[in-house]
Amino acid sequence: MAVATQYTDKTDEQQAITEMVRQFVDEQIIPNAEHYDHEDSFPEPIVEQMKELGLFGVTVPEEYGGMGLDLTTYTMIVEELSRGWISISGVINTHFIGTYLLMKFGTDEQREKYLPKMATGEMRAAFSLSEPELGSDVQAIKTSAAKVDDSTWEINGQKMLVTIGLRSSLVFVLVKTDPDADPRHKSFTCFIAEKEPGVHENTGEYAGLNVPPQIKKMGYKGVESTELVFDGYRCPAENILGGEAAGRGNGFSQMMDALEVGRVNVAARGVGIAQRALELALRYSQERKTFGRPIAQHQAIQFKLADMATQVDAARLMTLRAARMKDAGERSDLEAGMAKLFASEAGRFCVEESFRIHGGYGYSKEYEIERLYRDAPLLLIGEGTSEIQRMVIGRKLLERNKI
Ligand SMILES: Cc1cc2nc3c(=O)[nH]c(=O)nc-3n(C[C@H](O)[C@H](O)[C@H](O)COP(=O)(O)OP(=O)(O)OC[C@H]3O[C@@H](n4cnc5c(N)ncnc54)[C@H](O)[C@@H]3O)c2cc1C
Repeated sequence: MAVATQYTDKTDEQQAITEMVRQFVDEQIIPNAEHYDHEDSFPEPIVEQMKELGLFGVTVPEEYGGMGLDLTTYTMIVEELSRGWISISGVINTHFIGTYLLMKFGTDEQREKYLPKMATGEMRAAFSLSEPELGSDVQAIKTSAAKVDDSTWEINGQKMLVTIGLRSSLVFVLVKTDPDADPRHKSFTCFIAEKEPGVHENTGEYAGLNVPPQIKKMGYKGVESTELVFDGYRCPAENILGGEAAGRGNGFSQMMDALEVGRVNVAARGVGIAQRALELALRYSQERKTFGRPIAQHQAIQFKLADMATQVDAARLMTLRAARMKDAGERSDLEAGMAKLFASEAGRFCVEESFRIHGGYGYSKEYEIERLYRDAPLLLIGEGTSEIQRMVIGRKLLERNKI
């Protein structure tokens, strides 16, 4: 087996799996994405095929029925899926974060209970921090849980913009359990809230967890973003991530750890959408003629193509570097933040340049770039805005270079 020596080199296994995903994207996702986007409908047949391909369990260990692959390989897969449509990578994004949380912090019982069903996609996971009054400032969380008896907690409050909020069976939700804790970040605990997938009003053992109609968005269609309303929802203490003794008060640091791999994942989505925007621009600029020649022969257009290709390459290198460092067990918080910042901005830049190259047709729903133009801005927001990434990067830089 070949050994990967450079950031972009692939092992034989990585080569085979990314080729398989690329073929799936070219045959199943790209030809159908416009339809689902325009209808804003969930791409069920595509998701069913993703289950068959094992894409819900890429990083889940083989003993739990997954592929047992590393973050680097997952990153390569996410780039390919996002090249097709970022909503498809959205279907597995929070799910991947949920499996990461279980593998790193879950108890044996929690892993055994959830990971096999998550690996097949039978159970899908959401990840919920944001609330109506907060996104960046996670420690402002108001949703709270209080103990009602030795083995049960009750959760009350409202969560916001939860991806796969309706179709998920599990929500990894951060809530306040110990308001007076010192330090403040010890106030929060992560619960694994079970629910009925696809149901707006849960009943029976999941009563008290309701999902209002999905939020209408400018892009990132097909995959739902919802509020979650916890109103007297009862959750067993055994569903505290890592168990009550180890998990209570540690939810904030668990979620922040998961956001680090989440950032590499969003960076890969930025690379994928930027790559697709470049491909569309390369094709269109050689087809469209102005002043007697293809626009690709005008130097102003070539400069745009050059800038786009340079950004795609740099974003890919930074993303794979962050993933490889994490896989090697090296500290990669700074690199993950830099990759997320650069690649999401590269996605926005490349999509806008490609849109300009498409002229008036780029504004038409007949052209794929119109969808990319609505999708790309999401990456500037999710898993921490560009401003928040700069704060993280600045803080880590100073930590590493203390005088
Ligand atoms: C489609 C979609 C899906 C999402 N999915 C999920 C999900 O699955 N789970 C989940 O928990 N959340 C999800 N989110 C929410 C997302 O994580 C938040 O929107 C994001 O963290 C930003 O928070 P906010 O919207 O509250 O903005 P705010 O935090 O209110 O920020 C508003 C503006 O102020 C800036 N800002 C904030 N603080 C500072 C500061 N200290 N210095 C400088 N500038 C600052 C921000 O960068 C931003 O420009 C999703 C969002 C979207 C749009």
